[in-house]
Amino acid sequence: SPAETILEVNNIEVIYDHVILVLKGVSLTVPRGGIVAILGANGAGKTTTLKAISNLLGAERGDVTKGNILFKGEEVQSLSPNDLVRRGCIQVMEGRHCFGHLTIEENLLTGAFTRKDGAAAIKDDLELVYTYFPRLKERRSSQAGYTSGGEQQMCAIGRALMSRPEMILLDEPSMGLAPQLVEEIFDIVKKLNSQEGVSFLLAEQNTNIALRYATYGYILESGRVVLDGEGAALRENEDVKEFYLGVG
Ligand code: ATP
Repeated sequence: SPAETILEVNNIEVIYDHVILVLKGVSLTVPRGGIVAILGANGAGKTTTLKAISNLLGAERGDVTKGNILFKGEEVQSLSPNDLVRRGCIQVMEGRHCFGHLTIEENLLTGAFTRKDGAAAIKDDLELVYTYFPRLKERRSSQAGYTSGGEQQMCAIGRALMSRPEMILLDEPSMGLAPQLVEEIFDIVKKLNSQEGVSFLLAEQNTNIALRYATYGYILESGRVVLDGEGAALRENEDVKEFYLGVG
């Protein structure tokens, strides 16, 4: 039987400031349990796509003017970002967004803000986050603002996990990190996917690493999907090699 779809984006158009057409009809699908990558150069529309899904465009004066978005079969365009979190979909923003003046552990606990299942369950999930991110456990009492970029990225993902998501939208996890750390973070994404069943939609400029981990990828250019396919197939595609992988 075909895999269940967790997220479906149908032909969305996004306009900023009533005039700037940035997404010109983007469609994509994430199967439950998938790791799907949105790829493309700076400015192609990756962040806009993720923010359209989590309804975070309002603050940027952006509007979805066409198309629709279904999470677990339900249209989500009228939901607030927090309602979407309660339904199981959370975004980790580009640039990591930890609270610098709070400790790592306090940051993680802020991620449980939508939950009503009590302190014991939240404590259990904190321990679960620490099993995936042992570095965060070591740094639990450090002020986040004084930890490394990699630790802050881990903190941002760990914080998202504290909402018990079924799906994480992950914007540019590799940004500004050394290659070894990028690998470490993608390994953890893969583990969260296979062991906790979290589905991922991630935006990446680092095509090489994203296609090694993604089950499926979409390449965006100027607000349109120009190519899509399974991760392995895209890595062998001649255009992808030439324009995105720097070989050929
Ligand atoms: P990045 O790697 O920078 O995140 P991206 O592929 O995610 O790139 P977007 O950030 O989605 O691209 O931007 C897509 C286009 O929309 C760019 O041309 C950008 O200049 C424009 N844009 C983004 N935010 C706004 C805004 N608030 N108002 C007007 N234009 C915007």
